[in-house]
Amino acid sequence: ANSSFVHLAADPRVAPEDVVNAPVDESRLAPPVMIFSPQRRLSLGRDLCDGETISHMQQRLAGLSCGDVEIPAGDPQDIVNQAIDAFAGWDGLGGARRADMLECAADLLEAEPEPFLHLAIVEAGKIWVDAIAEIREAVDFLRYYAAEARRLCVHALVLPAVTGEANQLEIRGRGVFVCISPWNFPLAIFIGQVAAALAAGNTVVAKPAPQTPRMAIAATALLHRAGVPPAVLAVVLGGADLGADLVGQPGIAGIAFTGSHATARRIAAILAQGQGPLVPLIAETGGVNAMIVDSSALPEQAAADIVASAFGAAGQRCSALRLLFVQEEIADSVLDLVAGMAGQMRLGDPLDPATDMGPLIDAAALARLQADQRALASHGRMLFTGAVPETGVFMAPTAYEVGWDHLPTHESFGPLLQVRRWRRDQLPLVLTWLRQNGHGLTLGIHSRIDTLCQQIGKEARIGNIYVNRGMTGAMVGCQPFGGMGLSGTGPKSGGPFTLLRYATEIVTSINV
Ligand code: GLU
Repeated sequence: ANSSFVHLAADPRVAPEDVVNAPVDESRLAPPVMIFSPQRRLSLGRDLCDGETISHMQQRLAGLSCGDVEIPAGDPQDIVNQAIDAFAGWDGLGGARRADMLECAADLLEAEPEPFLHLAIVEAGKIWVDAIAEIREAVDFLRYYAAEARRLCVHALVLPAVTGEANQLEIRGRGVFVCISPWNFPLAIFIGQVAAALAAGNTVVAKPAPQTPRMAIAATALLHRAGVPPAVLAVVLGGADLGADLVGQPGIAGIAFTGSHATARRIAAILAQGQGPLVPLIAETGGVNAMIVDSSALPEQAAADIVASAFGAAGQRCSALRLLFVQEEIADSVLDLVAGMAGQMRLGDPLDPATDMGPLIDAAALARLQADQRALASHGRMLFTGAVPETGVFMAPTAYEVGWDHLPTHESFGPLLQVRRWRRDQLPLVLTWLRQNGHGLTLGIHSRIDTLCQQIGKEARIGNIYVNRGMTGAMVGCQPFGGMGLSGTGPKSGGPFTLLRYATEIVTSINV
C-alpha cells in the first residue's frame, strides 16, 4: 500500500501515474517494523522536483477535489457535547482498532498524496520539496501514533501487588481534546495533534489556522474515510474568538496547541478561570533559536546548514535559525558563503519546481517582519538582502549583524537572520544568553571540538540540539520535537512519551 513515494524516490524519472498504478515491489519497501524511515525521507529531495516528473504531477493536481467534510453547525458548546457523547464508544474501542484506522489513513495518504501536495503548495505556499516532506511527516505521525496505541493502549500493565491482590494500569482517553494547529505545517501538525489525541482514545474538535482551512478539511475527510466516525473527529473553522470559545468549554478534557507563546498564555488564562475539570494544555510554541559556529567548523558545511535552517520554508518554521553566533576567526568566510548562497535563492511561484523560496503566508506576516527589520536597521548592520518578485507577499533572505546589547528577544517568523560574532573569551556570554533568553526549542552547533559540543549541550536548556547539521525538519520517532520554557510545555511530538500526556491512567486493584 505504501508504494508511491518509495517508487518515486527510487526513480524520479518515472511518471507519477505509472507509479501509482505500478505493482508494489516488496523488496523496495522498508521492513514492516520500520514505520518511519529516514532513508525514505532523505531520498525525497530535489531530484524528485526536476524534469518531467513535475509536469506530470502538475497536470494531475489540476482540478483535484480535496474531499468533503461536513463542518458541524451550532455553537462550540453543541459541538463539544457531540464529541462528549462519542467519547465512551471511541475510548472503549481499544488501541488496536484505533491504530488500524490511523494506519489506513496513512495508506490512503501515501496512495493519493496529490490533493495534499496541491494544497501544501497553493494554500500554504510551500515549495515542492517542503510539500513532499510535509506529507511524509504526516504519514509518519499516523504510523507512529498507531504503533504507540498498540504499545500502550491494548493491554493493561500488570503491576506488583501484595498477596491476594491484583493491580493493573490502563492507559485510556481523557475525553474531548481541542486541537488548535498552525498554518506553517497545515497537514503534518494538524494530523500530528489529531492522531495523538485519537490514538490515546480521545474524541477531537480540531480548529486549524484560518489561513489553511482547506488542508484541514482534506485531512479530516481522509481520517473519516479511514473509519474515524465524524462524531469522533469534528473540524471547526474560525479565528481566535472561536478558539477562545472552545477552550472555555467546561466539557473539554485537554488542549493541544501549536502557535505563539502569547496565544498559549491566553489559553492558559482561560483555563485558569474555568469552572470545569482541570485539564492539560500541551503547547508547542516558538523559539529564538541560535546556532553556534566555532573556528574549527567547516565553513562550507556550516554555511549550507545556516542557509537551509534560516531561510528554508521562508524561515516559517518554529525550529528555524534566528541568531547565528559565529566565531571571529571564521566569521568572514562563513558569512561570505552564506550571503552568496542566499543570493542564489530563487523567490517566486511555489508551483514552479525551480523556486527555492515561496511567499510568506500573508500580508500581516510580512508587516510584522518589516517592523522587525526597521528596528534592526536602526541598531544593526545589514549584511545582505535581495530583490523580491513584483507581486505577492515575499521577503528576501536577509541578515543583520547585531551588538551584544541588541540580541533578539522575540521570534521573527520569516527569513530574517541576526548574526553576532564572538571571540573565544566571549563563549560564556553566548552560553549565558542561551540560558537566559527564556526560549528553549532548537540549537545548532557547528564545531569539530567534541568537548565544546558536549559542554554547550550540557549547559544549554534546549529541547532539540543539532550538531554539525541543519536544525530543522525533526523526524517523527527519530527526533521527538519540542522545547521548554517559553517554547512549550512538552511533551515532545513524535516521541515515546507523547501519547501518555494525551491520555489518563486508570489503576484497578482487585481483592482476588
Ligand atoms: N517540527 C518542525 C521542524 O522540526 C517544526 C514545527 C513547527 O514549525 O511548528 O522543523
